Amino acid sequence: MKFYFLGTCAGTKPISGWHHQSFAMEVGQAVYWFDAGECSSYTAHIMGLNLLQVKTVFISHTHFDHVGGLANLFWNMKKLKGKSIGAFDKVNLFIPNRDAWKGIKTLLEADRRNFSEYIPVEPFDVHDGIIFSDENILVEAIHTEHLGKPENGEWKSFSYKIKCEGRTIIYTGDIGLANVDDLDRIVCDCDLLLVETGHHPYTEVLDALEGKNIGMIAFTHHGEAIRKNPLQACYHAQVKYDRKAIICMDGTTLTI
Ligand SMILES: [Zn+2]
Repeated sequence: MKFYFLGTCAGTKPISGWHHQSFAMEVGQAVYWFDAGECSSYTAHIMGLNLLQVKTVFISHTHFDHVGGLANLFWNMKKLKGKSIGAFDKVNLFIPNRDAWKGIKTLLEADRRNFSEYIPVEPFDVHDGIIFSDENILVEAIHTEHLGKPENGEWKSFSYKIKCEGRTIIYTGDIGLANVDDLDRIVCDCDLLLVETGHHPYTEVLDALEGKNIGMIAFTHHGEAIRKNPLQACYHAQVKYDRKAIICMDGTTLTI
């Protein structure tokens, strides 16, 4: 399986070379999309990914640095598909806030009233537990406290645990703001951990991961500390914490 890091920055003002959070996972002929920050589909196309192979999109939460490029992803798929209607499998969209999808759908249909005849999107709610499986991957959602504790019990922010080709990959999404306690509950033994560093110092994140059996740590959704000095962060993780680690940047690819 191959990972394409399309945007690796937290929700900042525009910064040259850094775009908001998104990555894609290519397994055989299928592409799975995780979060959709600003120009993620543009970057993916330029990197050589076939957007028409996107089968399923998983959104961690609907803050704009994670959905700002979602309408543009579907619009670009339509552009690549051309003028023909039909003969295109639906795209599954797991999104923890139906109102956000309603807004994006309205935007797409303002562009073309029958947009869904070109790119049919089926939205699904996200909840704790296994939410998706097909011939390639199985995906479990685990809530995070990034958007606080909901009074009605409906969590709106999630991490994803992915099983694929006998491996386990965990994507943390955005974790709680008050502390890094979410990590203890979310992260289990895994082959690859994609962990956000936008809300807490990476050293605090690394401390919280002590004792976890993790094949490789890939930092993403960066805050200022890593953006300013990615090599130092990588050095810290590898030498001081004895972790196999990489700092994802826009355009990074990783095959495991
Ligand atoms: Zn974010």
